[in-house]
Amino acid sequence: MGKVGIFWHNSFARRSYLTGGNRLSDFPDAVGEILKRKDVTLYTCKRVDKDLVLKIHSEEMVREVESFPLCTTAYESAGGVVEATTRILKGDIDRAFCFIGCGGHHAGRNHFWGACCFNDVILAIVNAKETIDKDLRFVILDTDAHHGDGTRDLLMWMNERDVLHLCLCDREWHSHNNLWYDFDATWVSYEWDPNKAYIRLVENALDIAIKFKADFFFWYMGFDICKGDYGSLGIDKETIVEIASIIRELTRSYFDDKLQIVLAGGSMRELATWIIPRVIGTILDGEGGSVDSREESDT
Ligand SMILES: [Zn+2]
Ligand SMILES: [Zn+2]
Repeated sequence: MGKVGIFWHNSFARRSYLTGGNRLSDFPDAVGEILKRKDVTLYTCKRVDKDLVLKIHSEEMVREVESFPLCTTAYESAGGVVEATTRILKGDIDRAFCFIGCGGHHAGRNHFWGACCFNDVILAIVNAKETIDKDLRFVILDTDAHHGDGTRDLLMWMNERDVLHLCLCDREWHSHNNLWYDFDATWVSYEWDPNKAYIRLVENALDIAIKFKADFFFWYMGFDICKGDYGSLGIDKETIVEIASIIRELTRSYFDDKLQIVLAGGSMRELATWIIPRVIGTILDGEGGSVDSREESDT
């Protein structure tokens, strides 16, 4: 039975940018039942090493982040994501869900905006390649509503060839080196069934991920695409859980069941409280895996 790590810090429930609107104030209680399981470990996010941060972000930017009132959880947010990757690659755990207080994908080499402070996923990749194996290959699937400009900026700046970046956003583009893909998802809200249309886009992206052949899969999971949230594409909350199941199946078949889910955008507390425990359910094995969705269908 695979082990799952949940990375959390109490400050994420009450302060910083994305949690300013209290989206995580029901946590960790909302995953209380999950935390009782023997195959689940709760890790308190430690601060990310500043020397690591300075490998990808400029000193000037790091100073700005440190004095920016909405980035007070920047070090803990990135710290949890970096530790989760290390623990998965070392075999302490098999999969992880990382809560964050502030996001990562709008943080580039020398700029940060849009509720992001340090680029958590890129820090995790740089650290893993330096400390575990320089030949590791990664896929990042970004289903936040917005373009992951900071992640793209850093991958280009690093000239990183071992990372495939699949980004569902507001543009249709891909690079000649077949490493960086953008899928325009804005039109799905005009479809008769936006959920089906969005899932089709995810599946197209996943086909590219399979061909790339990587060791590790990051899902940068935004729920801002859900109806009523700030990046709404008319997506129902159930669809996020369906995507989680599709990704779990894929990583089971092609990525040695190594999967790290990193929370991204989305502001509504009721969505966070409904979606997150169910998404974590999809990465649990055996009895009680996906327990919450089953309870839902019984009632
Ligand atoms: Zn977003
Ligand atoms: Zn994009």
